[in-house]
Amino acid sequence: MKIITTAKKLKSYLKKKKSKSVGFVPTMGALHNGHLSLVEMSMMQNDITVVSIFVNPTQFNDKDDLKKYPRNLDQDASLLESVNTTVLFAPSTEEVYPNGMDYKIEVDLKGLDTRLEGEFRPGHFDGVVQVVHRLLEMVKPTNLYMGQKDFQQFSIIGRMIKSLKMKTNLIVHPIIRDKDGLALSSRNKRLTEAKRKWAPLIYLNLLRIKASMETHSVQECIDIATANLSLPLGFKPEYIQVVDGKTLKPITDWKDAKYIVVLAAVWAGNIRLIDNMILKMKKS
Ligand code: AMP
Repeated sequence: MKIITTAKKLKSYLKKKKSKSVGFVPTMGALHNGHLSLVEMSMMQNDITVVSIFVNPTQFNDKDDLKKYPRNLDQDASLLESVNTTVLFAPSTEEVYPNGMDYKIEVDLKGLDTRLEGEFRPGHFDGVVQVVHRLLEMVKPTNLYMGQKDFQQFSIIGRMIKSLKMKTNLIVHPIIRDKDGLALSSRNKRLTEAKRKWAPLIYLNLLRIKASMETHSVQECIDIATANLSLPLGFKPEYIQVVDGKTLKPITDWKDAKYIVVLAAVWAGNIRLIDNMILKMKKS
């Protein structure tokens, strides 16, 4: 595996390889099997796979979260090596933002960024759009791989690619979970033992909503899940929303959309966990 830290070196490396297709997996490191599944998918579908590790300061609305975000480049590098990743791209902040971080990518996201996470993490998606735009500029991948775990994030990046007519295909990988159902996340490591024990309740409640669609209204489902997820000590749902998967606008009736997704953000002590599940996906 080649480790590259500058845009210039990456460009000349990719040029020399003359590969037919480049797959790209952007990450913030602290890699787990969720990330590695994206990498493996990219490895299967492309000649070259570039994985970036960059903890992007502009997407953290909470500075404490940025400070505490786990960083372990050596361990990440050996995990990437173990799945035969072609290139690990680990740029510095100066390399990613040579002209400073204080700018915004102007793109019409059709309100996708204002709902759900957008409501609770102001500025977060401006940072995500900014960094992915910049990374795509540097890597110029044929295929971009993102996880369904961050449903709103891939929706927004898909919109950005379309809107700005960028030449890359977005490929979304399903959520990888632990044996007990908890969606893998770099933040899981920071859960206390007791919080970790109860955290799979998020997934179980999403499953329960899916199983109750025939018998309960949208609001009833949300109310039951909200009550259940408030039960364990220190757990507090920030939102549980059932939305149209295309627009991310909340729906009130199961008949309101053909593509329906439930998304949840839950505080487990001082750790914020997110998860989601596709409830209905009918081809129109
Ligand atoms: P992050 O390092 O958290 O920014 O994540 C990098 C990429 O990995 C994003 O596209 C995430 O959606 C994806 N990802 C994170 N966790 C999972 C998971 N449990 N299953 C699938 N993809 C994931």
